[in-house]
Amino acid sequence: MENEIKDKVVVITGASSGIGETTAITLAAQGAKVVLGARRKERLESLVNRIKQTGGQAVYLVTDIKKRTDLIKLVDLACEVYSRVDVMVNNAGISHLSRIDEVQVEDWEEMIDVNLKGTLYGIAAALPIFKRQGSGHIINILSTSGIKIVPLQGVYAGTKNAVRTIAEALRQESGGLYRVTGISPGFVNTELAEHIKDEATRAAIKEKAATIAITPNAIANAVIFAISQPANVDIGDIVIRPSIQD
Ligand code: NDP
Repeated sequence: MENEIKDKVVVITGASSGIGETTAITLAAQGAKVVLGARRKERLESLVNRIKQTGGQAVYLVTDIKKRTDLIKLVDLACEVYSRVDVMVNNAGISHLSRIDEVQVEDWEEMIDVNLKGTLYGIAAALPIFKRQGSGHIINILSTSGIKIVPLQGVYAGTKNAVRTIAEALRQESGGLYRVTGISPGFVNTELAEHIKDEATRAAIKEKAATIAITPNAIANAVIFAISQPANVDIGDIVIRPSIQD
């Protein structure tokens, strides 16, 4: 039997733009109750209003995933308003690209803090609730950068692959109590590249994205696919890239 999206409580980090925002809209349109976190309040407020105007259910909390307490408050909000958490989508992420011999240590640290530690904080906030409920689903947004290793993306890819490794251990430890899914997007048309500091790299990535990138809908559909499987089916890894990506 299909595991319906309707009435599932789904917490999504990084919901203020790109993949997180589209995933929130897509899930809410299918009847999920979405609990949205990110740092930009105005974006979240306007997204929640949009979802409500179309009959959906959504709440938000300003959340910085570098702070463990923010993730705890986010899942607490889900429990307060909707009484449970069915799915935790650890989507928030940043991508600083540089050669390793440029030794951009602060950028490395920020990626480790957000992409790795922030995701772990999301997992840590959700697991006690999943244990109490006897069920739950962690979905981590990874990257094809971790599958095909290329220059400039070493540390970024490392943070994503660290999450992949940890999540596989979690899956095996769970003994079927909760499901664990990793979704690895390739080039997706979002704001991610806007934050690349080096101007030439930013321009090159944006040009490539403009030529080949797919829309965030492709990733949102993968989230829906993973959630909607029967409870005894765990979708482990999904890779979604533009057909013409190397
Ligand atoms: P966006 O830049 O559009 O979205 C990133 C989201 O993460 C924003 O909502 C941002 O919100 C949030 N975020 C960043 N830092 C924090 C933080 N400290 N606390 C809370 N939220 C934070 O990019 P995408 O939608 O593309 O990125 C989503 C995920 O997809 C990321 O994990 C990224 O690595 C991954 N990905 C993207 C690819 C692409 O080509 N776009 C390819 C492969 C993977 P705010 O600034 O409001 O906090």
